[in-house]
Amino acid sequence: MMESTPQYRGRFAPSPTGPLHFGSLVAAMGSYLEARSREGQWLVRMEDIDPPREVAGSADSILHSLEHLGMHWDGAVLYQSRRYDAYDQALAELERAGHTYPCSCSRTEILKHAVVTGDGPIYPGTCRLGVNKQRLSYALRVRVSDGPVEFKDHIQGRIRRHLKQDVGDFVLRRADGLPAYQLAVVVDDAMQGISHVVRGCDLFSASLRQIYLQSLLGLAHPHYFHLPIVVNDKGEKLSKQTFAAPLDENRPVLELVRAWGFLGQDLPVLFEAASVSEFWAWAVPRWQLSGVPRQRQIPLSGLAGC
Ligand code: GLU
Repeated sequence: MMESTPQYRGRFAPSPTGPLHFGSLVAAMGSYLEARSREGQWLVRMEDIDPPREVAGSADSILHSLEHLGMHWDGAVLYQSRRYDAYDQALAELERAGHTYPCSCSRTEILKHAVVTGDGPIYPGTCRLGVNKQRLSYALRVRVSDGPVEFKDHIQGRIRRHLKQDVGDFVLRRADGLPAYQLAVVVDDAMQGISHVVRGCDLFSASLRQIYLQSLLGLAHPHYFHLPIVVNDKGEKLSKQTFAAPLDENRPVLELVRAWGFLGQDLPVLFEAASVSEFWAWAVPRWQLSGVPRQRQIPLSGLAGC
């Protein structure tokens, strides 16, 4: 059994871009089990600050699925769409300290000059020298430093990366005026007192950026755990865009057992007749973080017995 950590506060932070699917269930389950097995709190935050990507009704549908799967959260759900003032304040602080600069580059212009990685183009720093004054709208970027960002990932091991080489100066406020995900997450993790962030490896590069922003804003760094992500046969992350199948509402325990197996945990022999609450009562004390594969991604088709 893990030691009890009374100050543990974990969270699941879905974006309402579609219903909960198997990939997001894995992330929710990992964060839930790590929190509950340490007698910690588990919060849910709805990351609804990207209206163009949102799908109407999916915030409610995700919350309904979590409840149906017996994953009960502590406190009220925090909606990022109600927190714009807090993001503006953090941005103003970074601007005052000279960490940001306006950027007038269009995506096409960036792509012309940038090296593109799996996480997108590495911004070549064009507007560090000044913006194109004829443009009407500007994004705001943070200057990244030359030094490395380092952290201990409790699943993947010690990480040391250079943001300048891997990411470049990144956007904090988009040209359409919306705050960027990286900024909102850092502000909310701090405000909610999140001590442990358990989420998929697709957010690995996001963690580096977020740790960097925490340092600039003088905020505490949570502990990070990056779970393997579920990919399809083409190696694409399961998502609405890759047509991830919705969960089978009629067989919630089966879905939970599949996610449990994906996370490298010993599979129960017989679970046909169990309820979701029986599953969790069985699973929480048996959760072993050490069983989670240290892989970045695992194909759905490779799942034993699923
Ligand atoms: N909202 C992000 C997503 O659904 C996750 C954010 C996080 O866990 O920090 O991909």
